[in-house]
Amino acid sequence: MNILVINCGSSSLKYQLIQSDTETVLAKGICERIGLEESRVSYEPANGKKETKIVSMSTHSEAVRIALDVLTNEQSGVIKTLEEIGAVGHRVAHGGEFFTSSTLLNEKAIKAVADCCEIAPLHNPLSLSGIYACKELMPKVPMTAVFDTAFHQTMPKKAYLYGVPYEYYEKYKMRRYGFHGTSHSYVAKRAAALLGKPAASLKTIVCHLGNGSSIAAVEYGKSIDTTMGFTPLEGLIMGTRSGSIDPAALQYLMHKENLNIDDMLGILNKKSGVYGISGRSSDFRDLGEAKKAGSERAADALEIFAYQCAKFIGAYAAAMKGVDAIVFTAGIGENDKDTRERICEYLCWLGIRIDESANSRRGEEMKISTSDSNVTVMVIPTNEELEIARETLRLIMS
Ligand code: ADP
Repeated sequence: MNILVINCGSSSLKYQLIQSDTETVLAKGICERIGLEESRVSYEPANGKKETKIVSMSTHSEAVRIALDVLTNEQSGVIKTLEEIGAVGHRVAHGGEFFTSSTLLNEKAIKAVADCCEIAPLHNPLSLSGIYACKELMPKVPMTAVFDTAFHQTMPKKAYLYGVPYEYYEKYKMRRYGFHGTSHSYVAKRAAALLGKPAASLKTIVCHLGNGSSIAAVEYGKSIDTTMGFTPLEGLIMGTRSGSIDPAALQYLMHKENLNIDDMLGILNKKSGVYGISGRSSDFRDLGEAKKAGSERAADALEIFAYQCAKFIGAYAAAMKGVDAIVFTAGIGENDKDTRERICEYLCWLGIRIDESANSRRGEEMKISTSDSNVTVMVIPTNEELEIARETLRLIMS
């Protein structure tokens, strides 16, 4: 069956058409700058050349229509008609406490996704527009939602409750949810497969380190803690996000700089993190070069990131009373050997030893710890689209 995977971002829509029997990507692409000038669609068939066209797209539903047009294009399309799409899997940011796993999207589920807009006002409306567009253009095709939060719904209360009056949890569901769940789940399962052990026998720490970064403690196949919280702003310092910060410091800063809460959150989301500290870039490649060229602030930013990652890994080893495997994934985790090495240096007390030559490879599944390391350290490229396609197939077959 051909499964279309749709991932709506704030001004983008990523799509992949996956053949589920062979798990091959038939074509993929991205609609960018939706609602802005010079919006464009890129399209890359498996055995063809990537092409990009400027096409006007003012909404996400127009972007879905354009993605379907390129997939069925007479010359370069990989399918002839929309009937060749057997199902659509949507990536949805927030499933609240309502969704503890992926779901088939019937009317009731769509309403529940819409209800979650209250706690995810920036993200869920985007996913919904993709869902409504597909429903209109392919009314008979079954659809699923795969949530960033669902994998972390196994967290116990001690991990998800904030230390605030309990009534805020009861009245408003204000709690920690965690994100990147699709990636953490895929990577933890893949780690177990590569180790040749059942996921239910392993204590794994997954480090999803990209523009947005989070770490998860996966005990016997279930997430028991993760660094992101009510929103993806909590936890580690990230590309442009601050991560955790003393909330009372914000009042001081808002007063000094004459900022309102929206300004403040804008700064914490978009102008902070390693970008804010270095004053240069959120990209670790730029920071690595700037450090080599002598920038102290770039060096500080990189060190703070590695230090915080190591602290959370230590915390999660304590939370699980042990750790069998630590896995790095996403843009930084898959590609930045220096950051992996720095993090692992802090973890020498766990008996972790890194094989330098293995660690210098990048972008492939590999073990980077030595054979005498007490904990196996691995790099596993994440594949959220494949996980969404697998979940979609599972739901449709059940
Ligand atoms: P997103 O959260 O947007 O999905 P990614 O997982 O794609 O982000 O990660 C993007 C980040 O990965 C870049 O901003 C950069 O910091 C880092 N990155 C990508 N390639 C490399 C590389 N070769 N070396 C170091 N860092 C890299």
